[in-house]
Amino acid sequence: MDGKKRGFTAEVLATPYGKPDPHGALNMPVYQNAAYGFPTAEAMELAFTGRTADHAYSRITNPTVEYFERRVRQATGALGVTAFNSGMAAVANLLLTLARAGDNVVASPHLFGNTYSLLASTLADFGVETRFADMTDPEAVAAAIDGDTCAVFLEIITNPQLEVADLTALSAVCRAAGVPLAADTTVVPFPAFRAREFGVDLEVVSSTKYLAAGTGLGGLLVDYGTFDWSLRPKLARAAEVYGVAPREAFTAKLRREVHRNLGAYMTPQAAWQQSLGLETLEVRYARASRTASEVARALDGWPGIAAVNYPGLPSNRFYGVALRQFGEAPGAMLTFDLASQAACYGFLDRLQSICRATNLFDNKSLAIHPWSTIFGTFSEQVRREMDISPCTIRLSVGLEDAEDLLADIRRALE
Ligand SMILES: *Cc1c(COP(=O)(O)O)cnc(C)c1O
Repeated sequence: MDGKKRGFTAEVLATPYGKPDPHGALNMPVYQNAAYGFPTAEAMELAFTGRTADHAYSRITNPTVEYFERRVRQATGALGVTAFNSGMAAVANLLLTLARAGDNVVASPHLFGNTYSLLASTLADFGVETRFADMTDPEAVAAAIDGDTCAVFLEIITNPQLEVADLTALSAVCRAAGVPLAADTTVVPFPAFRAREFGVDLEVVSSTKYLAAGTGLGGLLVDYGTFDWSLRPKLARAAEVYGVAPREAFTAKLRREVHRNLGAYMTPQAAWQQSLGLETLEVRYARASRTASEVARALDGWPGIAAVNYPGLPSNRFYGVALRQFGEAPGAMLTFDLASQAACYGFLDRLQSICRATNLFDNKSLAIHPWSTIFGTFSEQVRREMDISPCTIRLSVGLEDAEDLLADIRRALE
């Protein structure tokens, strides 16, 4: 090597196995098993006490899952990567590793529904408070932070509002307060968004989305090793208990305690599929996000469409910050407003190639009416507070041609 860093996909493809495969398999096989045998009692002791890296039990490590984690680590330059069996498991492990009773989390009120409920209800029952603050207002975030704040948490593009916070500004607020910045980056995947460069310390991803492309569920928790955990009492103690440097305390606490206790590790089959998804992620995302941008530009101003919301449109209020953080095509999701809820239902019912489905970033394009489905059990007042409108359609753009999607949309609007 001449010292020049390889591209994302080259790093993924070049990631070596931890141990050579006995058959020289070019694709990491699926190690579909629970336990691993040892030659001696001593080897067993060394593995179980963490002094060798041998696998002992697949709730803790598994060769196929570990290889997937290793590839993500190599391509992102992270300190630690842990794979889970859903995005929500990654979010739950993140928060349970950070927080203890009496702590608070400063979070955006615009969150994935289950993340909102995890914070507002599940963790509240364990004495962890959530303070909702407007992430597009760094001063409001600074004002919400106090000595018991264990993290600031947000989604890089909120769904379905498509709100974009200035991460550099938020990171400065977090640095000044000695609080880690944690972000759910599901909407713009690794090759297009280098979280660490924008000051994100801990990143969670629902790999169910672009990585798995609809073949199953998964989640990733990425620790960049950028936060000095001696600033947070719970993790400062973990650094002592596990005998690691202050910057390694989060991953030590996660891997040696929280993750194995909660038992939500990724399955080998999912890791195999998502590792393959990682090889083509950059190519598929470039295509889907470019198509989303084309579709948003084409729909802007169409008869029957009251408004188009996509942060890649120059008229969008987040255009500048989205361009700086995510490039020309910020994500493969957009929303548009029709005249009424009835108009939205009629539109969805007339779609022929775009699927009526929840989920995001499948290879197929998907459309949904968030007001009546994802947020259908929330009170009308809460939905209004969350900026959800009964007139909005959310479109997740897949790998079809823009012309084919626009033809389906045009037909369904008539
Ligand atoms: C889907 C999603 C999640 C949850 O992921 P699952 O894999 O469904 O558990 C969390 N955050 C965002 C932004 C998502 O889109």
